[in-house]
Amino acid sequence: MKFGKINEIQPALSHTWEKTIFITFDIEWVTDEIFDWVLNKINQSGIKATLFCTHYTDKLQTAKSNNNIELGIHPNFNYLLNGNFRYGKNIDEVITFYKNIVPEGTSYRSHCLTQSTILTRAFEKHGLKYDCNSFIPVYGYNYTLEPWLDFGGEIIKAPMFWEDDIHCMYKWPFDLKLFMKHAGLKIFNFHPVTLLLNINDMDKYNQAKPFYNDIAKLKELKNTGYGVSNFFDEIIQYVKKTPDIL
Ligand SMILES: [Zn+2]
Repeated sequence: MKFGKINEIQPALSHTWEKTIFITFDIEWVTDEIFDWVLNKINQSGIKATLFCTHYTDKLQTAKSNNNIELGIHPNFNYLLNGNFRYGKNIDEVITFYKNIVPEGTSYRSHCLTQSTILTRAFEKHGLKYDCNSFIPVYGYNYTLEPWLDFGGEIIKAPMFWEDDIHCMYKWPFDLKLFMKHAGLKIFNFHPVTLLLNINDMDKYNQAKPFYNDIAKLKELKNTGYGVSNFFDEIIQYVKKTPDIL
């Protein structure tokens, strides 16, 4: 087992994504303090990670100094869909807004997973290549996920199979073996604040939402029982203990 970055995936070369754990984060407009906390956690863990960025901050430069970190974009199309042009008045302008935050980025995941064939072609036109806009649960099913090449272009679709808040919504058990036993692509997605809070149900997150920008208060509200932060640590230990037999 090893860690990987989304932009290392080549669908035809299974060694680039099999027996590999992909850790991703949707940055979700967090404060610099919380961004720093995430970067420290990644550094201390020695893992590779892909961060889908939402806004410009000096912390992006810190992230870029770690070769284990890939920066992608996390565009929010909800405003445009509701007739609000704060990020741009059409698809191209919204993508440009986010591309300017991470000009070298080639991976993307829309906020709320907004996707369409028109959006995919627009992302491709802007030099993006890796689409992480699909969530496909494997827990309770017997299929195997693989990355695939999107029709009509060169976009690589890389679906995630686990996300911290979705785990809590489904009320899945925190039993890593049940997820690791699935062969194929394994992309885990975390959010900084849910990780900080170590949530194990969505009520915890909803109660803490008013303090979204207050790292001290969030730490105070942290769930002391088993939650997504313990699960994060377990994933890291699992990878480190499982030899790469490829
Ligand atoms: Zn988001």
